[in-house]
Amino acid sequence: MRVKLALAPRMGRQVVVEEVELDEPGDHEVRIKVMTCTICHSDIHALTGEHGEYEGPGAAGHEIAGIIDAVGPNVSYVKPGDRVLCSEVRQGCGYCEQCLNDRHWFCTNIPPMSFRVPSPYTRLNGERVIQTCSGASGFSTYTNALEHMLVKLDDDIPFEIGSALACGFMSGFGAVLNRCKPTPGQSFAVTGCGGVGLSAVMGARLSGCVPIIAIDTQQVKLDAAVKFGATHTVNPKQTDPVKAVRDITGGFGVDHSFVAVAGPGIKRTTFDLTAMYGQMTIVGHEHPRNEGMGEINFMEFLAGKRITGSVMGAVTLRRDIPKYMEMYRRGLIDIDSLLTNRFPLDQIQEALDDSERGALKNVVICN
Ligand SMILES: [Zn+2]
Ligand SMILES: [Zn+2]
Repeated sequence: MRVKLALAPRMGRQVVVEEVELDEPGDHEVRIKVMTCTICHSDIHALTGEHGEYEGPGAAGHEIAGIIDAVGPNVSYVKPGDRVLCSEVRQGCGYCEQCLNDRHWFCTNIPPMSFRVPSPYTRLNGERVIQTCSGASGFSTYTNALEHMLVKLDDDIPFEIGSALACGFMSGFGAVLNRCKPTPGQSFAVTGCGGVGLSAVMGARLSGCVPIIAIDTQQVKLDAAVKFGATHTVNPKQTDPVKAVRDITGGFGVDHSFVAVAGPGIKRTTFDLTAMYGQMTIVGHEHPRNEGMGEINFMEFLAGKRITGSVMGAVTLRRDIPKYMEMYRRGLIDIDSLLTNRFPLDQIQEALDDSERGALKNVVICN
């Protein structure tokens, strides 16, 4: 089928929108009419090769919401006309040992996620397009996806909210609920207040954390964090974050710290502002050589201090997303304020550039 797709003709962040041929959906696959795809910084990292190099034209877009247009063989979860969101995480089979232990990521009965593999799109010059960061490419009018990546979207939830739920929000909010699991009254600090960090703040607030300390070098992000529930803000450009957090927490540091940004020394500093019995949860990452985490002494762990990580909020897709939709409906979480600007697919370059300049979360309207 002839569709429109945004693609980088070669590795990089310059994209063009052009007509391409999309294969028919295969076994357990659906074709989605993409309504919205929100921009995640991972899209930009993937297109530029920071998450791994690729050869040939590349496509991205993994925060997808739309309508089922067609189904391939053996699809049982959805039918044409259903509203869905499409995530890069997969819902596992539900009955293998990993799924029964709530680790759908490791389901042994569905194909694993694979990136930088040929997509179902072919350029009119015959080149196959590479899928750079998900099993689907949402910066397009139509995309194919495995049914395991889908969650039905309730009729009253706007597509753009579904898109934002599909990755950025769950990566922060889900990680707090599923990995940090703070109890009411515990202290919480988040380093990096972009979309993921702000979603973590929402998770901490809903969990009853106090204080909630937002750490970022940009005042505009600190202001946003306060809007989402932070009780204190710290700007490392103005003050030593370790000292500031200890001052706020009676000298101990926080029960829970959360790293939602990558960069030299950031994890080490965040670990230092975590209480000796606390836990640091890491979401933001870049190449280990730039992280400065080599100097860790085992003595630091004697009082029970922990480091853990989280990918995609450690969510169980079809258990957690319906809960998030209900929380949104009841005003317990504020997804609307995460969304910044809206762009039609033809203006995706502008949308990507705007995201690169720091816009929280831009929406690409694909149909
Ligand atoms: Zn993402
Ligand atoms: Zn399974």
